Amino acid sequence: MMKKSKIDPYDWIEKTLSTIHQANWYRSPKSITSPPGPVIEIDGQSLINFASNDYLGLATDPRLKQAAIAAVQEWGTGSTGSRLLSGHRPIHQALENAIAEFKQTEAALVFSSGYLANLGTITALVGQRDLILSDQYNHSSLKNGAKLSSAVIIEYEHQNIWDLAEKLQKNRPQYRRCLIVSDSIFSMDGDACPLPDLINLAQTHDSMLLIDEAHATGVMGKTGAGIVEHFGCQREGIIQIGTLSKALGSLGGYVAGSAKLIDYLRNRAATWIYTTGLSPADTAAAIAAIQVIHQEPQRRQKLWENVAFFKQHLGQLDFFPTDSPILCLKSGKTEDALKLSEKLRQAGIFVPAIRPPTVPSSRLRFSLMATHELDHIQKLVTVLQ
Ligand SMILES: *Cc1c(COP(=O)(O)O)cnc(C)c1O
Repeated sequence: MMKKSKIDPYDWIEKTLSTIHQANWYRSPKSITSPPGPVIEIDGQSLINFASNDYLGLATDPRLKQAAIAAVQEWGTGSTGSRLLSGHRPIHQALENAIAEFKQTEAALVFSSGYLANLGTITALVGQRDLILSDQYNHSSLKNGAKLSSAVIIEYEHQNIWDLAEKLQKNRPQYRRCLIVSDSIFSMDGDACPLPDLINLAQTHDSMLLIDEAHATGVMGKTGAGIVEHFGCQREGIIQIGTLSKALGSLGGYVAGSAKLIDYLRNRAATWIYTTGLSPADTAAAIAAIQVIHQEPQRRQKLWENVAFFKQHLGQLDFFPTDSPILCLKSGKTEDALKLSEKLRQAGIFVPAIRPPTVPSSRLRFSLMATHELDHIQKLVTVLQ
């Protein structure tokens, strides 16, 4: 036997962790000891919650809970296999039909998460001979999907349509296929992509367009279908991705688009083919969520009233301009963002500091919910002022 080396091959982990600490980038999960909602409990302290993606308050809705429980009773806890082998159930088809109807597309496909939906779809659509044009602030799942695809990736400046146009003009002719990808509501900034301009450029440059509606589904558009509905672009052949885990209060991801696209993805999207089907409970909860969104537009209306109320009372505070329930307060140094977050917590308000490497500059990111009461928002405004 060879002599063991004295160097521990895992030594670098501790060193890297200490570098992360020094930069104030260190993070660890906090245990929330109450159900999700506008008021939560951490370490025995009751806090008004401005950090949730549960925009409509559906994660604790009795109808979603009941649907999940009934699905477990009927179908068991696990799907027990990949959808193409032994994991496909009638409720999966029912959810995909409901999503397609909601999004006004021919078909839809559900994945185990929104992250996996992006990885699987992007890698199936483009490869080595192809080009991806990606907004520089896109979500991690879009960026990593692009990397994994082996296509050539060119980032364009955040929301800069002229920069995108120039880069398409210059580079598009050298490649076989081209895919433009963008968040619809940017997850850490809260601004909306200029969808009609993106569609225009995609059509001019013979390119596919993929939009990630994670933060817009249930929130934007007349029926809550997202940015595509908001701009009336349902007929434009856009590939719409999203998650079941934000406004829909469940877990899972989806792609909605043409029947051809979905048929192709069922045969080529590795993160769908080689993974277990969505659990019966998550599937049934998502179906119930879509029904509630149809039946109760007043939830969306209340959410937007809350957004308007908050914005009216911001005064001189330096918030990023947005048209969504995500509102970000600029803060210079990471240290300052952490201190401010801690101060707010002492005052009974939970809002995390979002730091590099998630975002280029530190900020406090507030997300509003339909279930916030005006008192909650009033208190936040008072403390901030
Ligand atoms: C949250 C999010 C995802 C990931 O969705 P999950 O279902 O949580 O994996 C993807 N894209 C964007 C823009 C997101 O905000």
